[in-house]
Amino acid sequence: MEELDCVVVGAGVVGLAVARALALAGREVVILDAAEGIGTGTSSRNSEVIHAGIYYPAGSLMARLCVAGRRVLYQYCAERGVPHVNCGKLIVATNTQEDAMLAGIKQRAEANGVEGMRVLTAPDAIALEPNLTCTSALFSPATGIIDSHAFMLALQGDAENAGAMAVFFSPVLGGRVLDRRIEIDVGGADPMTLRCRLLVNSAGLAAPDLAHLLVGMPAARVPTAYYAKGNYFTLTGRSPFSRLIYPVPVPGGLGVHLTVDLGGQARFGPDVEWVDTPDYTVDPHRADSFYAAVRKYWPALKDGALQPGYAGIRPKIVPKGAAAQDFVVQGPQTHGVPGLINLFGIESPGLTASLAIAEYVLEVARTG
Ligand SMILES: Cc1cc2nc3c(=O)[nH]c(=O)nc-3n(C[C@H](O)[C@H](O)[C@H](O)COP(=O)(O)OP(=O)(O)OC[C@H]3O[C@@H](n4cnc5c(N)ncnc54)[C@H](O)[C@@H]3O)c2cc1C
Repeated sequence: MEELDCVVVGAGVVGLAVARALALAGREVVILDAAEGIGTGTSSRNSEVIHAGIYYPAGSLMARLCVAGRRVLYQYCAERGVPHVNCGKLIVATNTQEDAMLAGIKQRAEANGVEGMRVLTAPDAIALEPNLTCTSALFSPATGIIDSHAFMLALQGDAENAGAMAVFFSPVLGGRVLDRRIEIDVGGADPMTLRCRLLVNSAGLAAPDLAHLLVGMPAARVPTAYYAKGNYFTLTGRSPFSRLIYPVPVPGGLGVHLTVDLGGQARFGPDVEWVDTPDYTVDPHRADSFYAAVRKYWPALKDGALQPGYAGIRPKIVPKGAAAQDFVVQGPQTHGVPGLINLFGIESPGLTASLAIAEYVLEVARTG
């Protein structure tokens, strides 16, 4: 029976950041992932935006870890040569009712510690982005974009240099809580059973399923998994904007926004489609609802210009219609199992917050 110090389940951006932080803190770490490599789940199916931390409720983990994570992420990218651009974002109002909402969004952002938010008149916004139509806008200079795969490779490299080992094709099938150890069953070509002192469940969409498979983990503490798919449509040709363009948020979502990747390709989305099981196909008909929404701030969008892109799935732990849920980092103080940390509901801004989530997990591991 192999005895290990720490096992991290999941080699997405959050699992890799946690494994890196544990390894740099001197702990022995093995990362297990069911897939063939790093970042095959939600971590490669997102907008690749470095979020400033604007919309989250003040004091929430999302607000705190987004702002802290974003600051260290820019530093990390600069130090490690991870491709990124601090391009900024405009939240655009297109009528007087929306004009009035920008001040409230600015106030919330500032309460979260977001730097440099500025309300712009329409001419000032259009001077920045000549293709834009708006009545006013809120500029967020702290927002940016990142090559998420390069970021994950850098995290994996750091973790491995500090002694961690990543093992792929290794699904964790279940396990049991023992006295001061957790025993897990690993499938794949060479099935095995391992024991560890610390188990971090960073399995993304499957984190609630995995928690249920651990005998001794109280089922009542495991949230139900819900899946909210986000579909993207790409724009043929070069992006008409160099900054990210978001409408004023609508109840329940951020509205159909435009993000740009590091290659200059523009994409619209993600929308929100609740599904019963994870499935990444994009229904081309969903583009229909995008056209009218986008033309409010970019009337020049041509019929037929949007092509189905890709989809990602938000690991929700509350159903459609419920109030938004914060990140859940669940340690022994919550569930009573020594040596187990579950990460539930790590949706956006999980990529931005990943380095700060990792520090938070370390703190939970230290304090119980
Ligand atoms: C549509 C969309 C857009 C987003 N946009 C942004 C954005 O612009 N900016 C931002 O900051 N955040 C964004 N996010 C959020 C961000 O992508 C996620 O928070 C982040 O990728 C979550 O990473 P993770 O490591 O927790 O999960 P994942 O990347 O899903 O990794 C989980 C890993 O666990 C593995 N796994 C699962 N079960 C098992 C098992 N039993 N055994 C072994 N391995 C297992 C999987 O193979 C997978 O590799 C977005 C999310 C979505 C859905």
